[in-house]
This record gives sequence, structure tokens and C-alpha cells, in this order.
Amino acid sequence: MIRVKNLYKIYEVGTNKVYALNGVDFTMYKGEFCAIVGPSGSGKSTLLNMLAGLEKPTKGEIIVAGKHMERMNENELVAFRRENVGFIFQSYNLLKTLNAVENVALPLSFRGVSKKIRNEKAQKYLKLVGLEKQMKHMANAMSGGQQQRVGIARALVVNPKIIFADEPTGNLDSKTTMEILKLMRRIVREQNQTLVMVTHDNHLATFADRQFHIVDGKILKIEEQHHPDQEEDQDKEIQDKEIQK
Ligand code: ATP
Ligand code: MG
Repeated sequence: MIRVKNLYKIYEVGTNKVYALNGVDFTMYKGEFCAIVGPSGSGKSTLLNMLAGLEKPTKGEIIVAGKHMERMNENELVAFRRENVGFIFQSYNLLKTLNAVENVALPLSFRGVSKKIRNEKAQKYLKLVGLEKQMKHMANAMSGGQQQRVGIARALVVNPKIIFADEPTGNLDSKTTMEILKLMRRIVREQNQTLVMVTHDNHLATFADRQFHIVDGKILKIEEQHHPDQEEDQDKEIQDKEIQK
């Protein structure tokens, strides 16, 4: 869960002050796909960078998993990110000469996880994103959509509480974009994580559970979206429970 209270980010440019964030308040819950949507220069990336602990706010509070991020020093922020946060990039950021399993396993090797467990976990998350047949494919021999699935698996492999994505489908065609957005929504719901996606595209934002509309550094409105596939999933869950009884 992410709780933001009275958040400001003010940049000093010469004698001018730029209010990139101008008093922002909200809560994002577990299991939710949240979209931060707004025009260029509205403060989306600034907000994401604050939430991810990559930049310090000028004023206000950011409470993630019960901890105040604005009170942490640089070392604490690094440790906090490593433990709690996953990133999905627009440009995928895969290592081209490694295969899918090796790319997904990479964050685990930085954490000193054994090779056997690394491979098991990497394969588990590649299955989750629908790449069971491409496990050994080199990153540079995959389509954009497949590469982004690898990118999602790599973000998930450390089981983060929160996943951040800045325009994650910016390089994909519209059909692949929809598949990827639905996949992300399903996964965070199933795994009870929070996904925060930034986009300038109003249509893409409607794939989220909630849309946070940002203009000139302020959240103007928060819109909830109902997804039919969510209902199907819930119906299925209820049926599964009935069968188990
Ligand atoms: P885009 O869709 O183009 O990526 P954005 O919504 O992500 O835009 P931000 O990058 O968050 O917008 O910028 C918000 C405002 O803050 C803009 O007016 C921008 O010029 C200003 N800004 C961002 N970073 C800095 C900085 N380091 N120094 C000064 N001003 C900045
Ligand atoms: Mg931006």
C-alpha cells in the first residue's frame, strides 16, 4: 500500500519556481493496478520518481509498506527499493546476449540466490507471463511484446510489493499493448501487489483499476474502472471455493 500526503516537488529554475507536484494526496492499495495519467509536463514522472524513492520530495509524506520514505537516507532507500520495488521499463532494458531465463534470473544473482533456485524462479515467472516456450530464446531474437513479457517477469522475480512502470507499452503495437496491460492487471491482482503505471494516453489508462488524472502537478480526479474479465475471475474463484467445500 502507498499513502501520499500533501506532497510537493518544487524545482528552482533560475529565479523561477516550478511546482512539478503541487499538493498531492492519495492511497493506492494492494492488488490494484493504478494508472497515473496526464499530459506532457504534468508531473507524472516526477511523482513516480518520488514514489520509487529515486528523488526526494520538497515537502509531504510518502508511506510505503508502513515506512516513511521521505525520512530515509540514501542507503536506506537503496535497501528499501531492493526489498520492495520492481521496475518495468519502456525500452525493456534486457541484456541482449542473455536468454530469457538468464535475464529474469539476473536480479536474484545480485541478491546471492543459488543457481538452482534462480533458474526455478525465473522459469516460474516466465510461465506466468506466457513464455514457457521461449525460455532459452536470446533477448535480441524476441519480438517487442515478448521482450516486455521478459521485462515483467524480471520485475516480478524478486516478489516486490510494488511495481512501477513508466510508459511500459510505448514501443508496442495496439494489440500487444492490450495483451500486456491485461496481463499486468491479472498478475498484480493474483499476487496482491500494487502496480503503478504512468501514461499520457487516456485510453491505455482505462485498462487500470483506477486512473489518477494529473494536471499541473495536482490530482484532478480519481476514476474507477470496472473490468469484465475481473468479474469472470471472481466468478471462477467463487466456483473454485464451492468445489473445494
Ligand atoms: P512527460 O509526459 O513529457 O514525460 P511528465 O508528466 O512526466 O511529462 P515531469 O517530467 O514530471 O512531467 O515534469 C513536470 C514538470 O516539472 C515539468 O514542468 C518539468 O519541466 C519540470 N521538471 C521536471 N524535472 C525537473 C528538473 N530536474 N528541474 C527543473 N524542472 C523539472
Ligand atoms: Mg515523464
